[in-house]
Amino acid sequence: MSNSSRPSWDEYFLKLAMLASERSTCPRMHCGCVFVKDRFVLATGYNGSLPGHPHCEDVGCLVVDNHCVRTNHAEINALTQAAIHGVNIKGATAYITNMSCTTCAKALIAAGIVRVVVFSDFHDTLATQFYTQSGVEIVKLPMPDRMIKYDIESYSSAKKTEKSK
Ligand SMILES: [Zn+2]
Ligand SMILES: [Zn+2]
Repeated sequence: MSNSSRPSWDEYFLKLAMLASERSTCPRMHCGCVFVKDRFVLATGYNGSLPGHPHCEDVGCLVVDNHCVRTNHAEINALTQAAIHGVNIKGATAYITNMSCTTCAKALIAAGIVRVVVFSDFHDTLATQFYTQSGVEIVKLPMPDRMIKYDIESYSSAKKTEKSK
């Protein structure tokens, strides 16, 4: 059996960020973020409205200066989740579907993120400059396979047991 489709650790956590992005509620941008330290997932986030507020996909975006301002970005929501649960993300890697905006980059730097892994650019921001200036390693990978290969026919022992009955 070939292992060629087995994701690397970086691809694995990027795919988790892609999965988180499926929860995004703004049609202008779907973004996911996962904080990881020692291969341990500390927090996840996606861009979405404040708790109790309407979703862009239901009521339309709230656009100011060509940006939708209704949602907190994925990075901020992951930071917020860590804060609520008292999780220290200092020294962690941030896996993000898109390169941060300037504001999120500043928040992650201040929170002690040391490495950022992305596969997509988000242009016209100072994020890369700020990350670099603060010594945060930026790794840009090709987008991982968008499919999740849950092959129950081939790998489920329960299925095989049922067949063998
Ligand atoms: Zn929106
Ligand atoms: Zn942002």
